Amino acid sequence: MTETAPLIEVDHLKKYFGDSSSIFKRNKDVVKAVDGVSFQIEKGETFGLVGESGSGKSTIGRSILRLHSITSGEVRYNGQSLHHLSKQEMRALRPKLQFIFQDPFSSLNPRIRIGDAIGEALLDHGLCSKEEVRGKVLEVLEICGLAPYHYDRFPHEFSGGQRQRIGIARAIILNPDFIVADEPVSALDVSIQAQIINLFSELQKEKEITFLFISHDLSVVEHLCSKIGVLYLGTMMELASRDKLYGNPLHPYTKALLSAVPIPDPTWKRERIIIKGDIPNPANPPKGCKFHTRCPLAKDICRVKVPEFREVEANHFVACHLV
Ligand code: SF4
Repeated sequence: MTETAPLIEVDHLKKYFGDSSSIFKRNKDVVKAVDGVSFQIEKGETFGLVGESGSGKSTIGRSILRLHSITSGEVRYNGQSLHHLSKQEMRALRPKLQFIFQDPFSSLNPRIRIGDAIGEALLDHGLCSKEEVRGKVLEVLEICGLAPYHYDRFPHEFSGGQRQRIGIARAIILNPDFIVADEPVSALDVSIQAQIINLFSELQKEKEITFLFISHDLSVVEHLCSKIGVLYLGTMMELASRDKLYGNPLHPYTKALLSAVPIPDPTWKRERIIIKGDIPNPANPPKGCKFHTRCPLAKDICRVKVPEFREVEANHFVACHLV
């Protein structure tokens, strides 16, 4: 039996901002937003990328889709190295690789009717005729829980949850293989969040779209993602299946993040692990283990030696000297 290759492969990805070669800049002016991250996403899988603000998760999402250049490493889609493609080759692939923003309103022209905004990429890429667009837009409006009369409305007439549905409709109308959803529910009220998460879950099942779902909130990714990576200061700290990560978290950072997730059963108490201070400046990250300045278990070795990202049990990877 032949093994199928992952749909997305991220291989030792680095993205540094700033230029260390300039004589006017010191090395510490270089922000290592993503510092050698590797993971794979299988076809049809939803991979969750979790971490605090400043951990590099959005930069990874944008790097994968080539929304900006990378410093080194490789991103492959169906075995094809995306950052080696010409602009024309990349443009031909664009419909297959889509992005959903936290705030879809910012990418909508206030003077363009929603139906036209959703359908314009279809025409841009020559994926259907002018006559066919309306029918295709009405179809995705329905899939995304919007009504036919919304077609002729303008962006300001929609609530936050509806705008996110519009963002999703704009992405799925192109029939993509892969979508990066960057904090798509974090600006929404909790009750609306649940509705949008349900919509993602339906799309997973019905359209078999592969997702990279980016969030700072472990309780959000738990419902959608079968595999999860935990990032800290541009470095992957733990990577495992959902069941392993939630059932047996091994990295102190993951444990602390999970201890803050509310438990539905009020009789079950979990000890809250408080992480002290803020995430350090990525332009000047701590030496050794990047988490040592906030880790409650840090030892002397943690301050000088970078922990190796190791497979400690089948498909469960951790970067910690104590695991
Ligand atoms: Fe904490 Fe040390 Fe493990 Fe880093 S290597 S997470 S500082 S115990």
